Amino acid sequence: MSAVQSVSGKSPSATPETYDVVVVGAGLAGMYMLHRLRGLKMTARVFEQGDGVGGTWYWNRYPGARCDVESMQYSYSFSDELQQEWDWSERYAPQAEILKYANHVADRFDLRPDIQFNTRVDRCVFDEDTNRWSVTTSDGATVVAAFVVLATGCLSNARMPDIEGISGFKGKVYHTGNWPHEPVDFTGLRVGMIGTGSSAIQSVPVIAEQAKHLTVFQRTANFSIPARNAPLTAEEREIFRKNYPEVRRFAREEARNGIYTELPDRGALDDGDNDRRAKYEARWRHGGLTFMSVYNNLALDKTANDTAADFVREKIAEIVRDPETARLLQPNNHPIGTKRICIDTDYFATFNRPNVMLVDIKSNPFEEILPNAVRTGGKDYEIDALVLATGFDAMTGSVAKIDIRGRNGQTLNQKWAEGPKTYLGLMSAGFPNLFIITGPGSPSVLSNMIVSIEQHVDWISDCIAFMRDRGLDTMEAKKDAEDNWVAHVNEVAHTTLYPQANSWYMGANIPGKPQIFMPYIGGVGPYRQICNDVAAKGYEGFAMTGAERPRKMAAS
Ligand code: NAP
Repeated sequence: MSAVQSVSGKSPSATPETYDVVVVGAGLAGMYMLHRLRGLKMTARVFEQGDGVGGTWYWNRYPGARCDVESMQYSYSFSDELQQEWDWSERYAPQAEILKYANHVADRFDLRPDIQFNTRVDRCVFDEDTNRWSVTTSDGATVVAAFVVLATGCLSNARMPDIEGISGFKGKVYHTGNWPHEPVDFTGLRVGMIGTGSSAIQSVPVIAEQAKHLTVFQRTANFSIPARNAPLTAEEREIFRKNYPEVRRFAREEARNGIYTELPDRGALDDGDNDRRAKYEARWRHGGLTFMSVYNNLALDKTANDTAADFVREKIAEIVRDPETARLLQPNNHPIGTKRICIDTDYFATFNRPNVMLVDIKSNPFEEILPNAVRTGGKDYEIDALVLATGFDAMTGSVAKIDIRGRNGQTLNQKWAEGPKTYLGLMSAGFPNLFIITGPGSPSVLSNMIVSIEQHVDWISDCIAFMRDRGLDTMEAKKDAEDNWVAHVNEVAHTTLYPQANSWYMGANIPGKPQIFMPYIGGVGPYRQICNDVAAKGYEGFAMTGAERPRKMAAS
């Protein structure tokens, strides 16, 4: 039986369609959420603004886009048949393959009938008399739901830089986070690239191979580790498949970041220079994100961190032939790992190509963009096309675009004006029955996203089932539990070096955005345990009301 009386099919009258749950977004989170709700026999409607599933992997189609978590781990674990049968072709899956996988999952679990594509959710309003959400979409329709789940993604609101003259540029302008679906051909063109984060670091080597010339405009140098991508052999896949129960358990319960890897048992200063260097060399040769797990104190102790940062800076100097370019590419304003570490294939070596130039816009900020050039430092760099790899309004940007109104008409944007406030990253006080998947205050972007997505979807599904089984009507974070959690998230962040970087984790990439460390850095294992304990104690810290109780009951 459903939590609410559902109206199936088209309504003959003006009565809005009614669902148990509206899910916003059909990325990897929204898709799994729908699958679980189906299993609970709940009625659900997913609204997706794109014309296909896949979220991040639907939008980020820029050249060189691929996941920085290894494919055998960046995949759903909820279906053993799926993980045993799907063949990943490379150590790190390219965007097109992940999108194919998302489409395969949508077909395999017959998800499409409940997904409405090309439809944005514009407004969600909580009605305190009925305890239901009214959800208005870009096609002008309104539906009613007992629950709303925001599966809007953390890095899905592409940020256009505010640079004078950009609208007058005569060539094509592309944003890596909103790349065209048709192939883009840079052959014979002089391309300008703004930004040097993960997206740029992946696309620079690929665009440089095709374009006549590539000028990279760098404001902040970033640390990047070689991916060492390679085709996956059948034997390598088989090792993972056989060990999946343990690989998945470890990723969920023991790894801080949801990735199966060897855990360090010592700090960087516990080894002498030679041993330390040998360990960094081995990880550099192995490639990938696990470089940061050589030692257990790289995120905690600046002196320890410096040893890893110096190692990478030396590598950059070895790879890049022009000493001035090498110097500019060496990051020097944040500890390594405190901005999302980048994973690359030949990024630094690309600057040895005769058709690639690095321009420092830190010391010579943009003056303006002309119809055919970028002007900086009194010089014009002529370009035919412009690529913006300028990032996202992360973690809160997509939620902020929806007009969400909770109790007493308060909007979520008003409530989050000084930074996002959630309890466990899952709910915000004053917004009953509104769940967020991988929201601020949860490990989310600091983890293997699929591990965190599955954990949240499972927790939310269990919670909705709990409420249905007990005839409960509303659930809401209590303010004191939320305040304590926000303080805890902040406190844990400040035991690390992370807040020392002007990163998008802090909201520092968006002018005027409150600077608060948004994800929970306590680790996916401890976080999962906290969430499980809260549930085991009858959802401690949340107020729940029964359908028969007075409905205008604010959480205390
Ligand atoms: P990002 O890390 O935020 O990088 C944006 C870049 O644009 C930075 O270099 C930034 O410089 C620059 N920039 C922004 N506005 C500018 C302006 N007005 N003028 C000049 N430069 C400007 O964005 P991203 O590279 O798209 O990556 C975002 C996140 O997405 C990553 O951290 C990662 O979590 C995820 N991602 C993952 C993968 C993967 O799985 N492999 C790939 C791509 C992205 P400043 O640093 O000086 O602000």
